Amino acid sequence: MVKSNPERMQKWLRTIASFTEEPGKITRPTYSQAWVDSIEYLREIMDELDMQVRMDTFGNLIGRYDPMASREKPIAIGSHIDSVYNAGAYDGVAGIVVGLELIAMMHENGLCPKYPVEVLATADEEGLICQKGYFGARFMTGDMSIDEMLSYKNAAGKNIETLRKESGIFEGVPFGTDLGWAKDYYSKYLEVHVEQGDVLETAGYDIGIVQGIVGIGRLFFNFAGAADHAGPTVMNGRRDALVAAADLIQKTWELGQANSGEAVTTVGRLSNYPNLHNVISGMASLVVDFRATDDALALALAKQIKEYAVSLREKYGVEVQLVNEIYTPVKFFSEELLYSLRAIELPNSMELFSWAGHDAKAFAQIIDSAMIFMPSIGGKSHSPEEYTKIESFSLACDNLINLLII
Ligand SMILES: [Zn+2]
Repeated sequence: MVKSNPERMQKWLRTIASFTEEPGKITRPTYSQAWVDSIEYLREIMDELDMQVRMDTFGNLIGRYDPMASREKPIAIGSHIDSVYNAGAYDGVAGIVVGLELIAMMHENGLCPKYPVEVLATADEEGLICQKGYFGARFMTGDMSIDEMLSYKNAAGKNIETLRKESGIFEGVPFGTDLGWAKDYYSKYLEVHVEQGDVLETAGYDIGIVQGIVGIGRLFFNFAGAADHAGPTVMNGRRDALVAAADLIQKTWELGQANSGEAVTTVGRLSNYPNLHNVISGMASLVVDFRATDDALALALAKQIKEYAVSLREKYGVEVQLVNEIYTPVKFFSEELLYSLRAIELPNSMELFSWAGHDAKAFAQIIDSAMIFMPSIGGKSHSPEEYTKIESFSLACDNLINLLII
């Protein structure tokens, strides 16, 4: 039985983690120098593995392994190379490393894949430019127009055109000529990812087959009250925007608690104006993030939150406005691909939902897609504490290889 090489994967993980914009941390936004360095490193690995390497005009890197010059449609295996600020070493990178290791296993053992295999390192999955997330994958699937793509800006106010130019690796390559190129191109998309939660570890499983991605929604609220002096203004005359916002945060929390296991609700972003200790809040805004395994439940939660927000007008004498709302429904992965994954009999595995969006969600709109989760120790992610054992990588590779070879 062909075996993966854990030392090789460790080395790749360590080297990619060393490409960072912030010394001592892992920060690798798309188009940054750290991103360019990681792309060059991946190119080197792909070259050594006799893969044909290309990059689309967005910045998604593709390495193709096709020793038989097959006529079959390729299968894509991969994940994202970009990271959040002060990230861990595994989110995204894990899926690329597994993809490359699968190629390395075939390459060094002279094994041929059933169909061409393309390893993807996608760009801007983390939403640092497009807050909707998986921007690079959306480019590949043609989910947005070029105009819409160019309308998004990162925290520094730069859009893709500016960022591409600054990266220095797209010289003379116009943006967008290949929008949606992955449509009808691939047969399947498989993404191996760290779980980012602790379901697998807590339940004592070594690997997970992801059935689908939960429905994810956001409600953007503004509260307008009256800024006034914190001293002379009597309590019953106040129109305190922040107190109204706090009430909605509490309600959001309670609804999540009441539906625990099937839904989660979060307010992680709040702004307050003028945000001074001696001034009553005149304006506040927040974003409610809600997720559920069932669309009807997600939408019922959103309805309750919206109705509650309206009731705060009278309670606090403030204006409450729902500025924007978005919802992407529950996405079940391809039954066919799930069937193939079940058929290779991953040892000590369980099936579960993903509570976060991933590139696979974008790809699932156009091709058969599925995901594999490796346990995140302590459930930590988007943090330097993120950790997945190298044994998990080996387990994934030693089994997934059976999906690819004859
Ligand atoms: Zn990720």
